[in-house]
Amino acid sequence: MLKYLDGPPEEPESEGETRPATQTEAAEDNWLAELDNQTLLTEEGTLPELEPAISPDIEENQASTLKQKITGLEHRIGYLERIVKVSQILNSTLSLGPLLQIIVQSATELTDTEECSIMLFDKNTQELHFAEATGGATEAMKKVSVPLDGSIGGWVVRSNRPLLIRDAKNDPRFYPGVDDATDFETRSILGVPLRVRDKVIGVLEVVNKRSEEGFSQDDIQITETLGAHAAIAIENARLMDELQQAYRDLSEIDRIKGDFVSIASHELRTPLSVILGYASFLKENVTGQASEQADIVLNSAMRLRALIDDMVNLRHIQTDEVPLERSIFSLRQLVLDVVKEFADFVQAKEQILTTRFAPDDLLLNIDADRQKLYLVLANLISNANKFTGPGGRIHINVELKKHEYWINVIDTGVGIPETEYNRIFDQFYQVEPALTRKYEGMGLGLSIVKGMVEVHKGRIWVESVVGKGSNFSVVFPTAPDVAN
Ligand code: ADP
Repeated sequence: MLKYLDGPPEEPESEGETRPATQTEAAEDNWLAELDNQTLLTEEGTLPELEPAISPDIEENQASTLKQKITGLEHRIGYLERIVKVSQILNSTLSLGPLLQIIVQSATELTDTEECSIMLFDKNTQELHFAEATGGATEAMKKVSVPLDGSIGGWVVRSNRPLLIRDAKNDPRFYPGVDDATDFETRSILGVPLRVRDKVIGVLEVVNKRSEEGFSQDDIQITETLGAHAAIAIENARLMDELQQAYRDLSEIDRIKGDFVSIASHELRTPLSVILGYASFLKENVTGQASEQADIVLNSAMRLRALIDDMVNLRHIQTDEVPLERSIFSLRQLVLDVVKEFADFVQAKEQILTTRFAPDDLLLNIDADRQKLYLVLANLISNANKFTGPGGRIHINVELKKHEYWINVIDTGVGIPETEYNRIFDQFYQVEPALTRKYEGMGLGLSIVKGMVEVHKGRIWVESVVGKGSNFSVVFPTAPDVAN
């Protein structure tokens, strides 16, 4: 991972301008490039216009001036094309290495220099380290640590300004350590800061201008533009690194949570079976108040067991490890069994529960995991019972349509706003805020139902009218010949 500082240490305000007397001579030969942001385009954003049409009797020197201008323009178009290419690559890749390589190569070619390198600031060591260079950052380069004090790169990072040195060897800011380690000779150098928002994260340097005239204003502009691209690429890579790390952390937390659920549910099940066993025994062998109390213990223990089952089921769904024990059984019988289990609850609220099976003369067999489908229906009917007021109606419709079973659990309850249709299938999601809700539950039922439906390659959705009721539709595929 790339290392940064949150921003380079603050430069004392006047350090860049006030050079010690001994440095004056060298500094006169070099010059600090503070750009006036001269652009390649005119203010209107078009390329500068050419001189008026060339007449046949044009003077020879005018012709050569024009030729020079055309060459200049061609050069600039070439430069712009290269920048566009770098931008395109920047937009289409997140792999930093190849992109930085293209940037340093472009910088070398466009500025007509021998070398280009990118150094990044390490906030821990407060030094600069090579991240990329023309021809790749060699092992020798990677070992070099460039100090902030007494190096041209350090000066650029600290002052957050470009610096152009025509005679590097005689500049007191020149750090010879890199040349020593890489067997290279730096003569002239141009460095620009790499900025991410307000912070300087490193420096891009082009070294040894090939032509006699030395670095130009254009060179500064080119390196600044490429430096800006490099900074964005480095920042993107850093964000990507952070994202991947966060993802790895989350996966690890999820794994730990999963392990906890598995261990906790396993450890809870054994004592819970003992409690359930004794409570049932007591219930059968005592009468009066004691029996009622045994009943309360039994019900609470059963709720705890259901909760543990929910957690285990959810874990299986999350890890795509739902074990399926398939068999062929009658969907009609399954529905009737679940309805029977809820008869007391339905009666307690004086609700009317009806069923319809179509076609009526078939068993409506299905090849599936019976226990899982039981769980699906039990959850839907339990919700219908829970969210429907006293005297309300619940209807279960099972229909064979082509090669699919359509099961609808319809109630005349409180209903669900359309905005919540999808969210109710999320884990721990409840339409009513948990703290003010009057219904029991943890918001896990429907997420488990959805998981169980989907492992059978089925679909589930809801349609509802608030205040009038809800209609949960579940569709399971079935083999053509099993329905009988
Ligand atoms: P729980 O019932 O334990 O809260 P579920 O996952 O089964 O969790 O349901 C999530 C939420 O969806 C419920 O809290 C409720 O707000 C809403 N819901 C589910 N079924 C119905 C229904 N038949 N009528 C109205 N709201 C429902």
